[in-house]
Amino acid sequence: MSAPTPSLADSLRTAGFKGELRPHKLLAPCTTWQIGGPAELLAVPANVDDLVVALAWAASGSISWRLLGNGSNLLIHDRGVRGLVLRVRKVLDEIKVHGRRLTAGAGASFPAVARTAAARGLAGLQFAAGIPGTVGGAVVMNAGWHQFETGNAIAAVDFLQSNGHRITMDHDQCKFTYRSSLFQRTPGVVLGATFQLEPGEPADIQAEVDEYTTARKLNQPVDRPSCGSVYLQPPGDFAGRLIDAAGLKGRRVGAMEVSRLHANFFINTGGATCADALALMDQVEQEVARQFGVELVREVEFWQ
Ligand SMILES: Cc1cc2nc3c(=O)[nH]c(=O)nc-3n(C[C@H](O)[C@H](O)[C@H](O)COP(=O)(O)OP(=O)(O)OC[C@H]3O[C@@H](n4cnc5c(N)ncnc54)[C@H](O)[C@@H]3O)c2cc1C
Repeated sequence: MSAPTPSLADSLRTAGFKGELRPHKLLAPCTTWQIGGPAELLAVPANVDDLVVALAWAASGSISWRLLGNGSNLLIHDRGVRGLVLRVRKVLDEIKVHGRRLTAGAGASFPAVARTAAARGLAGLQFAAGIPGTVGGAVVMNAGWHQFETGNAIAAVDFLQSNGHRITMDHDQCKFTYRSSLFQRTPGVVLGATFQLEPGEPADIQAEVDEYTTARKLNQPVDRPSCGSVYLQPPGDFAGRLIDAAGLKGRRVGAMEVSRLHANFFINTGGATCADALALMDQVEQEVARQFGVELVREVEFWQ
């Protein structure tokens, strides 16, 4: 009789992975939209060596893998996802300041980085206080607010290529554009980033952080489950303005609703499914295209 096939978790452990392994872990609680079925295997690396082990293991077994930060820009299918999900959040999260440079691990919270910078009298990341992602997710997405973008403050990114080689990429190599970076097209793991900041008065910088935070609370449903903006801004316009003008505020499918406060936010009012979200997006896209001839492009990433 042949020996039983080891589970993915047993196999990855045998390969030398030291961190936490969670087979069939439900992903909904790992996303800000609170939607998504289980990962075949969720792994939380203990360190960079674990990531090297995991990528080599996945390559040798032809196992698909993905990176999860704080899940604040993701829609995950109700069926869940096959393969390995590597969660880099609250690990690799050290924040260090040297002069005008702040270096943060990929798993650090972006708002925590903004607060540290403000407290140390460093300006340039005030906008980040309201973006509920990790540093890794912010770099990959080139997260931003109004005229501010993560990429503008980046001096270098520490990147683990899928072949296990660790490289440092300077700002220009990262190819930052509106909500995009080279990392969206290059398999690997963002391990951390170094930000080049400007000196300032801590109280003044903190006042700006507070001002932006207040503005967000007034204009966005920040205390309800969402993925932030569902759509990218169309050239010369705002997705939220178009959705509002199409009369779609409050439109609902199942438990998913277009926010009445900010129409580019869709709210999970309790127990919404991925199917609800997709159906609502389809309706909104069709209606905006019909009324204004604009094709909305999704900012939220879909995992299936
Ligand atoms: C209330 C709210 C407000 C928001 N406001 C804004 C805003 O003002 N501006 C804005 O730009 N966004 C905003 N967002 C969206 C979201 O917070 C950002 O896109 C954020 O940068 C995503 O980070 P994350 O850690 O949650 O990434 P995730 O959603 O977990 O992942 C996003 C992408 O990055 C990849 N990824 C994550 N970590 C790594 C890593 N270490 N290495 C390689 N790939 C990785 C994932 O595979 C995925 O492709 C908002 C979201 C919410 C819920």
